[in-house]
Amino acid sequence: MELPKFGLQVIPYESGATFDSKDGYFAYFSDHDALRRELMRHSPKDADNYEQYARSVMRQCKFIKPLLMRTAPDPVRLRPRDVSELAYILKRFHGLGPREMAETIRFWTMSIAEYLDQYFETSIIKAHLAGSGIIGTGLGPYSPGTAYVLLHHYMGEVDGAIGAWGFARGGMGSISKALARSFEASGGEIRTDSGVDRFAIRNGKVRGIVLENGDEYEARTVVSGMDVRRTFIDHTDERELPSDFLKAVRRYRFRGSSGKLNIALDGMPTFSGAPKDARFLKGDLHFLDDMEEIERAYDDWKAGRWSVSPYVDFLIPTQIDPTMAPPGKHYATVFVQYAPYELAEGQWDDANREAFAETVISKIARHSPDFRKLIVHKEVRSPLDIERETGLTEGNIFQGELTFDQLLFNRPVPGYAQYRSPVRGLYMCGSSTHPGGGVMGAPGANAAREILADLGHKFDLGAAA
Ligand SMILES: Cc1cc2nc3c(=O)[nH]c(=O)nc-3n(C[C@H](O)[C@H](O)[C@H](O)COP(=O)(O)OP(=O)(O)OC[C@H]3O[C@@H](n4cnc5c(N)ncnc54)[C@H](O)[C@@H]3O)c2cc1C
Repeated sequence: MELPKFGLQVIPYESGATFDSKDGYFAYFSDHDALRRELMRHSPKDADNYEQYARSVMRQCKFIKPLLMRTAPDPVRLRPRDVSELAYILKRFHGLGPREMAETIRFWTMSIAEYLDQYFETSIIKAHLAGSGIIGTGLGPYSPGTAYVLLHHYMGEVDGAIGAWGFARGGMGSISKALARSFEASGGEIRTDSGVDRFAIRNGKVRGIVLENGDEYEARTVVSGMDVRRTFIDHTDERELPSDFLKAVRRYRFRGSSGKLNIALDGMPTFSGAPKDARFLKGDLHFLDDMEEIERAYDDWKAGRWSVSPYVDFLIPTQIDPTMAPPGKHYATVFVQYAPYELAEGQWDDANREAFAETVISKIARHSPDFRKLIVHKEVRSPLDIERETGLTEGNIFQGELTFDQLLFNRPVPGYAQYRSPVRGLYMCGSSTHPGGGVMGAPGANAAREILADLGHKFDLGAAA
């Protein structure tokens, strides 16, 4: 899609840090030598074990990554292509060797806390690394399956560097803008002034869409990027769908767990634990002592309240990309675990939104004495607000939980993991499908391959386009 040509510029992350309650910190660097020095400062044993840990995570990434850009086999239908795709997965699995096979199964099913306990002794190092296992999910660090969530966050890449994270220059919206420009340059037309009300279906075939404003478009092929619940429960006449399919769609779990604060700042805040001009302040910052603190934050979410001491992923991207704020001003993005979609007591009204924001700001202010007085403006988003604003059901950032029961050929539902639906011509391409959420475009690329094949283009359907 030549996105750089259409304005997308990704600046790689270089560092980050976790501060503990005594203003100690662990800094993370993408530069190997700098990271090793920092690990040595905390524990020479952890520094040595980090090498093994990084190799193990990378091995898992290398095993799983090629599966992302392939259509999952369908064990329900088991046509020749499904058999050969299953054989491909088994061959890769077998190729790992007996020790790694066992490790892979453990990795896919175990908790991030137990995984990190195998390698590290220092609480703050484990706390720093555990965050990637719980972000966006309704699970705690001791919940089975969170080691895989960590992997999902590590699988990305920036310019071929696996595991790297990046900032989109100008903010995340610049990705959508580049996608839109690329699409329009290929002759596509985009309409954003009205939502889809329903898919028009006759005799089991899609005939087009009807918008909320009453406009109708005829089409033999319709592709939905909405999640599976919206697509089939909210916008499809259920009489057009088999009952077992509907039952499976209703069973698909979302469980929003993340809140968000966007904060405009009058200047760059200082952090009491950080040396002056520390370069790790340019990355993601966290404030916690150990993994148990995240687990307690999760306990609050289970009880239907936002975490009293939340896990925050705090970033000031204007240090790297000053185009996002006027000269001298800054902007902070704060991703928060955990916030429930529905509160056990009360509603997500202005008072509760304000109380939630105050909890988050107090936590940051304990480490940054001037933070509070630098706040010029803030936006606060609960999972319910995220749902209303972005269309992500229950505010789940991945269009549905990334738990093992909802991955690969079970995503979104068994028998329909190959981007087709029970309605002929109606396809799915959103993150409810394999391989799940995140800014990666893999579900869309896989769906496009299947659709083009149905339209008569020749492809090796297993392989990446
Ligand atoms: C606060 C937050 C922070 C995140 N941070 C990161 C991150 O740092 N890195 C990362 O990789 N991922 C991140 N994610 C996750 C990532 O943004 C999503 O997983 C990804 O955008 C999903 O892409 P998608 O195209 O599948 O679905 P979506 O982006 O949800 O696209 C679906 C589209 O359908 C539209 N839609 C819904 N209903 C209708 C209708 N009736 N008619 C017409 N259109 C409709 C929606 O408006 C939306 O534009 C974050 C998500 C959130 C909410």
